[in-house]
Amino acid sequence: SKRGRLDQFIARTLQISKKAVRNLLIDNKVLVNGVLAKSPDLQIDEFTHVECNGVVLRQYEKQYFMLNKPDGVVSATIDEQHPTALSLLTGIDHDMLHIAGRLDLHSTGLLLVTNDAKWSAALMAPQNKVAKQYIVTLANPIGDDYIEAFAQGMYFEYEGITTLPAQLTILSSHQAKVVLREGKYHQIKRMFGRFRNPVVALHRVSIGEIVLDNTLLPGQFRSLTKAEVDCII
Ligand code: URA
Repeated sequence: SKRGRLDQFIARTLQISKKAVRNLLIDNKVLVNGVLAKSPDLQIDEFTHVECNGVVLRQYEKQYFMLNKPDGVVSATIDEQHPTALSLLTGIDHDMLHIAGRLDLHSTGLLLVTNDAKWSAALMAPQNKVAKQYIVTLANPIGDDYIEAFAQGMYFEYEGITTLPAQLTILSSHQAKVVLREGKYHQIKRMFGRFRNPVVALHRVSIGEIVLDNTLLPGQFRSLTKAEVDCII
């Protein structure tokens, strides 16, 4: 199940480089199940007892959360001006946590937070084209011509790329659902900007199969279920 290399486990747990781990091994500082370990590629699992410099390393538990991000909270670990999304995870040790897929300061809704870098990498990998759904509120009425423009993709001068086909569904005169399979900088705002139609509110409702729990008030969070975690990889 959770098998992996000894050097990776030590590097991750102690937050040190693989080279530093090699040195610990060379210096006879690592015990695996009570026996001196020499080889960095030794396979270990969650039952292996690893001791480094006389300290037992705890196999860290993988954690996954969904947060209903409120307006005015930044998707960052540290910020001088605004509260951070991680600071809302009260009672959770956020040392190793990171955000999988940011939202702009004024955007709201589904934000995923984890300490599992492999999982978030798979979620965000451009080639995986995970669908993200947004409810967008606009300043001006939405035209039928937007649908085709979003589906066609738009050329972004600055990056020199054309956006992937995006699905736009008109919900009411000033509200649309947009599905993106990528995440360029301020993408949705820039796409509506082509129509000179400012985004008033942007709310993410899902990432892949993971749907924002509608019982979560802004600022509230919960752990993901096993099914939600497993739907990614
Ligand atoms: N597009 C934006 O412009 N902002 C977001 O936060 C997400 C998508």
